[in-house]
Amino acid sequence: MECGFSPQLHSNRPILARTCPGASPRTRTWTSFLASPCLKTGSQIHLPHSSLKICNGAACKAVTSAPFVETTEATELDWDNIGFGLVPTDYMYVMKCSSDGIFTNGELKKFGPVELNPSAGVLNYGQGLFEGLKAYRKEDGSILLFRPEENAKRMIDGASRMCMPAPTVEQFVDAVKMTVVANNRWVPPTGKGSLYVRPLLMGSGAVLGLAPAPEYTFLIFVSPVGNYFKEGLAPINLIVEDEYHRATPGGTGGVKTIGNYASVLKAQKIAKEKGYSDVLYLDAVHNKYLEEVSSCNIFVVKGNVISTPEIKGTILPGITRKSIIDVARSQGFQVEERAVPVEELLDADEVFCTGTAVVVSPVGSITYLGKRVEYGNRGVGVVSQQLYSALTSLQMGLAEDHMGWTVQLN
Ligand SMILES: *Cc1c(COP(=O)(O)O)cnc(C)c1O
Repeated sequence: MECGFSPQLHSNRPILARTCPGASPRTRTWTSFLASPCLKTGSQIHLPHSSLKICNGAACKAVTSAPFVETTEATELDWDNIGFGLVPTDYMYVMKCSSDGIFTNGELKKFGPVELNPSAGVLNYGQGLFEGLKAYRKEDGSILLFRPEENAKRMIDGASRMCMPAPTVEQFVDAVKMTVVANNRWVPPTGKGSLYVRPLLMGSGAVLGLAPAPEYTFLIFVSPVGNYFKEGLAPINLIVEDEYHRATPGGTGGVKTIGNYASVLKAQKIAKEKGYSDVLYLDAVHNKYLEEVSSCNIFVVKGNVISTPEIKGTILPGITRKSIIDVARSQGFQVEERAVPVEELLDADEVFCTGTAVVVSPVGSITYLGKRVEYGNRGVGVVSQQLYSALTSLQMGLAEDHMGWTVQLN
């Protein structure tokens, strides 16, 4: 959900399933499925029961290796025009935890509505977190996840701030793998986009007096998404926001809580009405230092130096941000994480944003106090382009992953 990614349910989009002629269904186990490199593009997974348990306990492990049937039923999505709306897929993952704080009995269920008590903590007091990552299809048909354990760790940090128990890194990563594999036929072909993975953690138990919920639900759903910028990178136009703030010191701006996005909608709406793509926030104390855009981190390029606001509680520690810093350093740039005064925008060479959805989004102009500064001669800055290419090549498996960031599902 970064920079302008607004999911809508495309209920009118025809989603048909067909069986390829001559294709015989084959029965496989999860273990062999994850181990052998023969995941067919577009093949559908039919779980043996309406749900399939995958949990920690030994009892559940047995169910994990239950055979399932893989057929070559493909989706008839128009892969060239998938955009960024929500496409309903086959399965979602659900795992619950009661007051003991231990998540168990996770299972894949048919994708669909979830039932919640009207008094659920998440509905009444916003006790909830979200995550976002992408799965890419490689040329050989296998699927790549990008640093899923980073999302798991960020959810654990956020859960601590929101007084929630969280799945372990292993539970989180396993659940992501299972959900992606079970929805294999929705992972777009190479080059056509990716499968967006959305993990949620919420207080699903009933509360009335102000307190942490007595029960929690971890849920993962997925949706195929197109490449954010179809015709190459498209520069965005930002306006510096000097009235509203996204985060305050001591607040929850540094964790991926669900409430952070509701609170930025208004400023974003006003900016869009004025023709801007999004809003660039300043710090709430001095109204002087750059923070971030509604849903992505920001970088300022000057010569060989790339500066980005440091992580200090009011900025969301983006995984793309962290990865871009490492990629830029490996390419010889000097990267500084520090307080970046808004004036530095005036003589920057380039500005770009980072987030899972956009990866790297070049900034074409920034307007501050009525003054507009343009970058990249209405095109895409060289550094933005170079870093975008480097990171997406890694994510899509086009370049060798020396960083050890990708997780391959076969
Ligand atoms: C998710 C998010 C980002 C980007 O984080 P990534 O891990 O790079 O996707 C940036 N800012 C905010 C406010 C976010 O919620």
